[in-house]
Amino acid sequence: MKVKAAILEELNKPLKIEVVELDNPKDNEVLVKMVATGVCHSDIHCIKGDLITPPPVVLGHEGAGIVEKVGSSVTTVQPGDRVILTVAPYCGKCPACLMGVPTSCENYPQTAMLMGSMPDGTKRLKRKNGEELSHFMAQSSFAEYAVVDESAAIKVRGDAPLDVVCLLGCGASTGIGAVINRAKVKAGSSVAVYGCGGVGLAVIMAAKLVGARQIIAVDMLAKKLKFASELGATDLVNTSKDDPVAKIAELSAGGVDYAFEAIGSTTAMTQAVHSVYSRPGGMAVILGLAPIGATFSIEAWRFLREVTITGCTVGSIRPQIDIPHYIDLFMSGRLPLDKLISAHYPLAQINKAIKDTIDGKIMRGVITF
Ligand SMILES: [Zn+2]
Ligand SMILES: [Zn+2]
Repeated sequence: MKVKAAILEELNKPLKIEVVELDNPKDNEVLVKMVATGVCHSDIHCIKGDLITPPPVVLGHEGAGIVEKVGSSVTTVQPGDRVILTVAPYCGKCPACLMGVPTSCENYPQTAMLMGSMPDGTKRLKRKNGEELSHFMAQSSFAEYAVVDESAAIKVRGDAPLDVVCLLGCGASTGIGAVINRAKVKAGSSVAVYGCGGVGLAVIMAAKLVGARQIIAVDMLAKKLKFASELGATDLVNTSKDDPVAKIAELSAGGVDYAFEAIGSTTAMTQAVHSVYSRPGGMAVILGLAPIGATFSIEAWRFLREVTITGCTVGSIRPQIDIPHYIDLFMSGRLPLDKLISAHYPLAQINKAIKDTIDGKIMRGVITF
């Protein structure tokens, strides 16, 4: 079928809107008519060439829409269902999936999601002249329709506004899951969050939800810190003025119980670990994606305090369970996902949405169809 899509042709250039050909879903796949999709920093990383997805590529990976058609073996969704498209499709059969860690699926590894094809290694998108287009995160939601693996289409309740809850396809789930699933932040504890973009702000919102006593937001931009305080941060550290490790120690009587790194900077990762050193059993959770090959080091004796340093991919979520739960929390007013969104744009204004995100003018922008 013919669909309008936004294509990244060359790195660091605006996306081009074109009519392209989208193949029918295979047996295990689903065709989804897009209603909304978030603009995430990973899309921008791809535009800048920080990721390995080869252009020309149809970007977008926080889609939400309505199922139009399903392959012959699909059982979990049917035409007419409202779905969130997650960046974490999984096979359901490998040891990681069976252990309840589908975000580390061995058959659909996250690295493969960045290689430009569907989980089976083939493509569904091409130009009129027959040139194949890369998929982004096996989704490519900057288009009127998308074909995805069945496991990536998460059926959600009918009354949830898709132009808000689409953020749970990637960024919001990454932050919320990091708090609830990975760190299991305890009520009454103290938390620091390095980086107040979409993921960091979702961490702050979830830390408030689970009853953290102190939530220290860390960023270099005053505007992002203001967003953070509106969402529940109790203290703010501006790294353009203060050393964050020293300031956090001062604000928290030595250090915090949990520190989250949501930037992808090895400097911030080191600082996050230093922020939990002094807490017995403190935990640093690394969410950001650092450049391939980057390293950071810490003083080994600090492990005497039994600190934990852990990674976390897509919030360690079990998509079919956690995304509907987060939607229930939003619908009951306990997780204000709508506050993360500053603006909606039509697909024709995709380049403005991307520029406003890069310039830090907005928290999150959402494309609506
Ligand atoms: Zn993302
Ligand atoms: Zn698996």
